[in-house]
Amino acid sequence: MPKVVTRFAPSPTGFLHIGGARTALYNWLFARHHGGEFLLRIEDTDRKRSTDEAIDAILAGMRWLELKWDGTEVSQVSRADRHQEVALEMLAQGKAYRCYASTEEIGEARDAARADGRNFRGDLWRDRDPSDAPEGAPYAVRIKMPREGEVTINDAVQGEVTVKNAELDDMIILRSDGTPTYMLAVVVDDHDMGVTHVIRGDDHLNNAFRQYQIYAAMAWDLPVYAHIPLIHGPDGKKLSKRHGALGVEAYEEMGFLPEAMRNYLLRLGWSHGDDEIISTEDAIKWFNLENIGRGPARFDFDKLDSLNGHYIREAEADRLLSIIKSGLENTLSRALDETEVARIRRALPALAERAKRLPELAESASLFCNTRPLEITGNAAKQLTGDVLPVLEKAANELEAVTEWTAPVIKAAIMSFAQAEDLKLGKVMQPIRAAVTGGKQSGDLVETLEILGQDETIGRLRDRVAA
Ligand code: GLU
Repeated sequence: MPKVVTRFAPSPTGFLHIGGARTALYNWLFARHHGGEFLLRIEDTDRKRSTDEAIDAILAGMRWLELKWDGTEVSQVSRADRHQEVALEMLAQGKAYRCYASTEEIGEARDAARADGRNFRGDLWRDRDPSDAPEGAPYAVRIKMPREGEVTINDAVQGEVTVKNAELDDMIILRSDGTPTYMLAVVVDDHDMGVTHVIRGDDHLNNAFRQYQIYAAMAWDLPVYAHIPLIHGPDGKKLSKRHGALGVEAYEEMGFLPEAMRNYLLRLGWSHGDDEIISTEDAIKWFNLENIGRGPARFDFDKLDSLNGHYIREAEADRLLSIIKSGLENTLSRALDETEVARIRRALPALAERAKRLPELAESASLFCNTRPLEITGNAAKQLTGDVLPVLEKAANELEAVTEWTAPVIKAAIMSFAQAEDLKLGKVMQPIRAAVTGGKQSGDLVETLEILGQDETIGRLRDRVAA
């Protein structure tokens, strides 16, 4: 096989949505699998709808997902001269023709065709002599579609798909203002960029038949097509915002890790046996077009959450710390001090066991910040009333007497205190937990106290007694 070249070709009319991100991922994986190239082309020919913000959002989304493209991204609009050149070459070869019809004439002809139940082909000037047109009149260039026969595309995902040429209209390839249409630009660019495999959403399958005719007219090699089924919501309907049709940056904000996102998007339409957790390394090793599913994939937040939980558990504590740090600092409106950083760093592996999303992790880590007096919420507040307070005071005294602040010693101190007071262990542990956490989710209590340190622990207990 010659060197594989894939591309991702987003139109910068909005954020990088989840379907686009999956398309980018598959192109990236396929190129990496084959040691080929993965190119990025910004399809900005629609000047009215393309914005710089959208371009920035797409590039930022790709970077966040760590889908590195080769070379510099190509702006489609910058290649307009080349598109025009190809249109003129098709014209010179009789594969395309000048159409002088006005918008009104086209509209009337379309209505007439519809009224007769015919396909409208836009072919008003197909057989007319251009010298019929007034001198210097503006014209669009239309492709001369074959009228006979049919084309079969052997799509790597959809299998053999056949369309009768008679169903295709003489589409415009160059507008009367000299700008290329998407249909022309995409083919010329894919050809010039040496793209060997076009992997994209199956909403483009119909376009492939029209694009085929440009390849044929120019006698260029057709790329391999792989049209991937679109992503649906969990109810099988078109993906809505509520169901996850959001920009990639929204997933970053919700607290998903890029590797979890990649794993999720990979599985959303591709499979490797029953494997659910697939590292990026394995994905590169295994990715192929054969295992892309033919049915629409269903988006499912629960699955994404569970994968994210896995990757949070796998992540290095230092990395998690650097991700949650700025959020914590924003909430506190100050920088974390060294003690807080050290506590969080120690607590993270245990905290990561339970977190599904990064904000949850940040929330549980905030327990280790100096925020006295703690805000006491809900159940914790209920547990810290009446008889409990004297118990808490005595417990604070016992813990203050501990000379070696380690989990086993702390535990022994609490146990012997409970015994001496003739209290069930839970009756001592519960209020301590409530006073020290304020009602926040926390893991093993003794470990939490150990990490929190003796001074902070005693301080939090005494705050309650004094309250
Ligand atoms: N620019 C097109 C889109 O964003 C993709 C074109 C293609 O992949 O061929 O839908």
